Amino acid sequence: MKYSLGIDLGTTFSVVSVIDEKGIPKVLNNSEGKTLTPSVIYFGEEDVLVGEEAKEMQAMGDENVASFFKRNMGDEYFGINFRGDYYNSEKLSTILLKKLKRDAEAALKTQVEDAVITVPAYFNNSQREATINAGKAAGLNVLSILNEPTAAAIAYGMRNDAIEKNLLVYDLGGGTFDVTLVHIDEASIEVLGTDGDHELGGKDWDDRVAVYIGQKFFEKTGINPLDDMESYNDILVKSENVKKQLSTREKCQVNICYGEFKETFEFTREILEGITGDLLERTKRLSEDVLKNAGLSWQKLSGVLPVGGSTRMPMVIEYIKNISGKDVVAGINVDEAVSIGAAIEASRQAKLDGKNVFTLGSYKRTEDVMSHSLGMAAISKDGTKYINSIIIPKNKKIPCKETRPYVIRTGRNRKNLLDVYMLQGESEDIQKCSILGKYTFSNIEHESSKQAVIDIEYAYNKNGVVTVSAVQRKTGKKLSLSIEKCEDDLQWLYDEPKEEEEKIHKSIVIAMDLSGSMRGVPLENAVLAAKNFISEVDMNNSEIGIVAFANKDEIVMDLTKDEKSIIEAIENLNSVKVGTSTTSEPFSKAYEMLRNVDGDSYIVVLTDGQWYGKKDVVGIANKCKADGIEIAAIGFGSAKKEFLDSIATCRENSIFTEATKLTQSFSKIARVISKTSGSLKLFQGYGQKSNSLNLLK
Ligand code: AMP
Repeated sequence: MKYSLGIDLGTTFSVVSVIDEKGIPKVLNNSEGKTLTPSVIYFGEEDVLVGEEAKEMQAMGDENVASFFKRNMGDEYFGINFRGDYYNSEKLSTILLKKLKRDAEAALKTQVEDAVITVPAYFNNSQREATINAGKAAGLNVLSILNEPTAAAIAYGMRNDAIEKNLLVYDLGGGTFDVTLVHIDEASIEVLGTDGDHELGGKDWDDRVAVYIGQKFFEKTGINPLDDMESYNDILVKSENVKKQLSTREKCQVNICYGEFKETFEFTREILEGITGDLLERTKRLSEDVLKNAGLSWQKLSGVLPVGGSTRMPMVIEYIKNISGKDVVAGINVDEAVSIGAAIEASRQAKLDGKNVFTLGSYKRTEDVMSHSLGMAAISKDGTKYINSIIIPKNKKIPCKETRPYVIRTGRNRKNLLDVYMLQGESEDIQKCSILGKYTFSNIEHESSKQAVIDIEYAYNKNGVVTVSAVQRKTGKKLSLSIEKCEDDLQWLYDEPKEEEEKIHKSIVIAMDLSGSMRGVPLENAVLAAKNFISEVDMNNSEIGIVAFANKDEIVMDLTKDEKSIIEAIENLNSVKVGTSTTSEPFSKAYEMLRNVDGDSYIVVLTDGQWYGKKDVVGIANKCKADGIEIAAIGFGSAKKEFLDSIATCRENSIFTEATKLTQSFSKIARVISKTSGSLKLFQGYGQKSNSLNLLK
């Protein structure tokens, strides 16, 4: 039989529990014989100390100490240098977890790998990933990441009196506050909603006490002991002590020695409450938001479950009673409940995985939610800014997934990449969200229509970690994904979106009807209009070819960028001999010219009459269209509008006009072709919302 660990990796303390041989949750002692291991690391010249000894070094004012690093978990810009080495929170947590694992193994007298590690419900994707990575680096098999309040609810839910209830788990720890609404019944523990503030916790109370002491000392002596790092650390430790003492006593004293001065200050609960009262108001707002979102009120609540060391303060319990109008649920050890819940979950999961583990008699099903909405950067409906377009709203049960289709323009010789910037946060304002990274999909196959539909699946897994995957709809193939942290300049995301800057190469075939009726004035007009058309097309980015047709079809000029020879060819159309009646069609030749080009391709047909060819002209035109070639048809004289409509890509591309107005009609087509997207169709008909077009960069 094996053990699996439940690890409460706390900001100030960490706790490890297991389900023991008798199927009972048990909190393990560390190598110092205590259940709470301070989350503190000391980097000595010779060795690294973790826990109690490190905390003692901190109390002595040694600066080679790391603490409260959980507050910077997942923050890629955070790191501290100790004795020449650089440590971020993930590395520091690895050191701490190694000690917790080692001590647990010593207590259990056996090796243990499997573990569930708890995190504040408020942790975002990078914080969760960093926690998992730290666990792995410490040699643990991380079965899952569990939200701390959910873990506390699981521990509470085991109790016999935990029959059907709506419970608010109020978790005020050392560095974070989480509030979670849970529905408990005989069979399940269901999280209805959660919210939190990861910059609010017992440390803020310590800071306030320290500032108060500093002020009083200054008033008496004229010097501020907080200006000195060593004395500041010393006062912080004493401040935490003052705070804790006031949890069981009405008043206490604190001695501060600094410089030649030695001062004693008296502290009362009243002073503590006076200087920290506002901190509690932040917890009220968040609690009420969670209740409101679940359609509940304080009255409908069965009780409040206080969790986390800071709920030992009487002022916190009084405050909870005041705002809720309820007694708090008693009998849960606030320090141990989270790790016990994690141990229950760890053994349940190990058992589900088919492992031979010590387990409880029975388990309740657990359903959790994520406290952050998952979104992506998208252009707002009015096109004026980039916004966070939410795909999975917060408080949705996890695991969960959503699929959205996107259209991407493909090219034969292009890289065909699709970039998606993933975000977590509630605001539409990207600056108020955390950017998870740039997710780039590659291996997108070029589609002859040049517009590929990519179905992207966004998901939260059971750990609340984001996973994104994509499939190209036509090929059914899963696309390769690479994720880059967004270290580069993201200012453009905060600016007004610019028109897509990529210049798409355009290949245009002018198909000229040279039948008998075109000869003379009509052709002169057509030549003028075509020359004007050339002057309006951006030739830096385009190539043009010419096909003439009547009885025969003929490539008058292959695709070229050379404007001079195009003009010459147009001026010489008069001498091209393709017969007099229109029994042929231009699309077959144009198709040959355009089928293998990159970028956008167009056929601009000019005709003055009906085509009497036996060939299936519309069928051949459709084949061109199916391969992504767009057709514009300009007709005059005896040409019929219905016929023009039937060969053009869409109605807007079919123009019936007068011979004298050919120039304007050609100009119109030139303008549409020159438009940024280069597409006459725009991205329509794929079901995506207009505000969620992704950044096709
Ligand atoms: P946790 O993150 O749940 O381990 O909570 C640690 C926080 O609880 C730290 O800020 C401690 O100072 C605080 N704490 C622990 N015991 C007490 C106590 N008796 N009274 C007030 N705060 C406490």
